[in-house]
Amino acid sequence: EVRVRFAPSPTGPLHIGGVRTALYNYLFAKKMGGKFLLRIEDTDQTRFVPGAEEYIKESLEWLGISPDESPWNPGDCGPYRQSERKPSYMQYALDLVEKGHAYYAFDTAEELEAMRERLTAARVVQPQYNSISRTQMKNSLTLSEEEVKERLASGEPYVIRAKMPRKEEVRLNDMIRGWVMVHTSSLDDKVLMKSDGMPTYHLANIVDDHLMGITHVIRGEEWLPSAPLHVLLYKFFGWEDTMPQFAHLPLLLKPNGNGKLSKRDGDKLGFPVFPINWENQETGETAAGFREQGYLDDAFLNFLAFLGWNPGDEREIFSLEELVEAFSMERIGKSGTKFDIDKAKWYNEQYLRNKSDQELASYIKEDAGKDGVELNQEVAEKAAALVKGRVTFPADLWKESKFLFVPLTGFDMDVAAKKWNADAVKVLTHYSKTIAGFTGTFDAETAKAMLGASAEAEEIKLGKVMQAVRLAVTGSGAGPDLMEVFAILGTQEVSKRIQFALD
Ligand code: GLU
Repeated sequence: EVRVRFAPSPTGPLHIGGVRTALYNYLFAKKMGGKFLLRIEDTDQTRFVPGAEEYIKESLEWLGISPDESPWNPGDCGPYRQSERKPSYMQYALDLVEKGHAYYAFDTAEELEAMRERLTAARVVQPQYNSISRTQMKNSLTLSEEEVKERLASGEPYVIRAKMPRKEEVRLNDMIRGWVMVHTSSLDDKVLMKSDGMPTYHLANIVDDHLMGITHVIRGEEWLPSAPLHVLLYKFFGWEDTMPQFAHLPLLLKPNGNGKLSKRDGDKLGFPVFPINWENQETGETAAGFREQGYLDDAFLNFLAFLGWNPGDEREIFSLEELVEAFSMERIGKSGTKFDIDKAKWYNEQYLRNKSDQELASYIKEDAGKDGVELNQEVAEKAAALVKGRVTFPADLWKESKFLFVPLTGFDMDVAAKKWNADAVKVLTHYSKTIAGFTGTFDAETAKAMLGASAEAEEIKLGKVMQAVRLAVTGSGAGPDLMEVFAILGTQEVSKRIQFALD
């Protein structure tokens, strides 16, 4: 059975790249008829941010991609928070020490710093704790067994480091990038167990993936450099047979393609990079989310799926079920994906347009209510039908249709300067009089026919005065289908507005 996991660290709000990782894990699991797990990686207590875990949960719930197993919905492999699994990690680290794949190190921060300075002075390109430099340091490979025992017994602080083989080629077959090969001479002896008794990410991650039966590790490209170490750890433990397959997802790039997308890009260019609003309970720091900016859950999800994946044909609109059906790892790109907020808006527009007038009317009614305007369902539905082709966010529905329901407060003077003239006055005067006395059904067609008749009566080409007519009735030079507007307003209101404009 396929089992995948999303393993965020609760260090702040989930970035859009993190949500995409969660989504791809979800899609792959569902496609394969497997399970999607969520594990909170909170071993680094110094970086813990309260509220972050709740934030992750709420974000995934909003998008309808909640995990099958998680801290708040545990399965058989709990606990699902690493801080709660703390007691189990040490034995695995000690197991590696016993097997000769890890060792104790007693170096102080000053000694480590001195080592780095020494190596830098000797022009070593990558000054690190590795198979060469370790021979000069205080660890169980250089100290006598006696001394190591003494130091441990006396309670001296220590870490446990992985012992990288000196000359070995590590290979892994990434599902997205193909074969990746790294020579161990470029790897350092990563700390597995910290002096505070907590495991590092690497140890906890591998142990937990193993214990939770993870079959595929799908995560961001930033973890690719750690993958060779992870492969070695599986080997050291003797778990090669059940080692998961790796899939490293391409980076999300800034809109201009220059580097990784960051929160600052969003702030600078005015778009969110988080799924939902974030507020840090301690610092008061806030960040805008897609949900609160008016993005619809299904539109945002559809947008997210296409940040690095495509179905291989022209189709762009996919529901979550359709995404599960169409998803495949082979269609994930190798190169980074440029973040394009216009595409997100486009998706929102498509999804809004596909909603029924009935649904859209409730947005309009609610927003109108906040402006003190009471609208009935029928009128609100007409307004929705009128403007839905012109809006990006639900809030735009009322903004775009408000002019129908509140008295005009003014006119677009730029349009007036260009379009208002004696011909327009003649046509408008004639039209206003005719419709004021009209008692038939004033639908869009009738409104148009009568306007044409007024122009003809005054021997003026309708096309020449159309913008002035729009200006008189709506106050602006652009907007939805004018004759539909007339039909909604009715003869008396249209006539009244024209009179007001003429005065
Ligand atoms: N805790 C890591 C993170 O925050 C997990 C990386 C992985 O999936 O292995 O992204």
